[in-house]
Amino acid sequence: MRAQVWLFSPQLHCLATHQKLSEVTYRPLIERFSRRQQQHIEYLSPSLSLHPLDGQSGMFGVLLIEALSEQVFNPILSTLISLSLARSEANIALAAAKEANQLEQMRNTLLAAVSHDLKTPLGSIIGSATTLSDTSLRLPEQTQQELLQSIAEEGYSLNRSLTKLLDISRYSIKTLIPKCDWVEPEEVIGSAIKRVEQVIKSHPINLCGDTILVSLDYTLIEQIIANLVENAAKYSPVGSEIDIQTNYRRGHFIIEIADRGCGVAPEDRLRIFERFYRSDQVKVKGTGLGLAICQLIVAAHNGEISVLSRTGGGSIFVVKIPCEKYELTDIYE
Ligand code: ADP
Repeated sequence: MRAQVWLFSPQLHCLATHQKLSEVTYRPLIERFSRRQQQHIEYLSPSLSLHPLDGQSGMFGVLLIEALSEQVFNPILSTLISLSLARSEANIALAAAKEANQLEQMRNTLLAAVSHDLKTPLGSIIGSATTLSDTSLRLPEQTQQELLQSIAEEGYSLNRSLTKLLDISRYSIKTLIPKCDWVEPEEVIGSAIKRVEQVIKSHPINLCGDTILVSLDYTLIEQIIANLVENAAKYSPVGSEIDIQTNYRRGHFIIEIADRGCGVAPEDRLRIFERFYRSDQVKVKGTGLGLAICQLIVAAHNGEISVLSRTGGGSIFVVKIPCEKYELTDIYE
């Protein structure tokens, strides 16, 4: 017995066929059958029959059976096929609805974050600029300097928040494909530090690690380091040191960023990598996106990111990425 399954939606198409049955030959017959919308079995010849596949909203397909004369097709099979197709269709529709719902939720949370995190610094910038431009106030020079500095700082924070919002809306596991090239970790760390120098200027940075060349996506790794170093400074007292250590072990590039800050509570250790999650305990401003971006980038490299508490106080963020290492000793020898 040979069979062919035809579905009507989104347009008439053959879903599955026995390899010896021709789709082209039977298409006109199926087309005619679908137009008639008849709900009962049609025998085209003693060996060829068409069985409607019915769902809740009527006939959605046809099962074509080619059988030898002594073979009898049990119609219960077409009911089972209809049920199983209807179930898989319902699952697809459910998955699409879930995705649409998640997107909607994500958009709403994004909007809420945008309005709060962007409006606050913007309000402060407008306030300071308005005061400065009012000549009737005759502000002392020091106050003018303070207002200018506040504009610069709030503008910087606004820029960082906006960049993170744009990055998170651009990145997804499916679209983020690392473009790896030989990079020197020290160089990437240097440019990451430059990106966030405004926030970390009052924290001495200690860098330690061998000079190596590893195959990584420069821009993406720079982004992870910038976010982690920025956090290390944000969540630590002014003047405290930040230690950055790089390593290459068992096929993995490892970077550890350690601070002497408030640390991460054990119940928050996994949640802080979720989008928009911020610990209740912290009073510092933020979007809750920096670590989610790190997580996305690390996952795109098939790596891992985690946080440990540091002996003596503070936390250590560890990023582990599988990659190749160039043997520099080969060059020197
Ligand atoms: P943001 O810093 O903008 O809130 P992140 O995604 O970078 O967003 O961080 C999420 C949360 O993780 C922070 O709100 C904070 O509670 C916690 N966190 C991140 N880095 C540190 C750190 N170095 N020390 C303590 N807590 C941290």
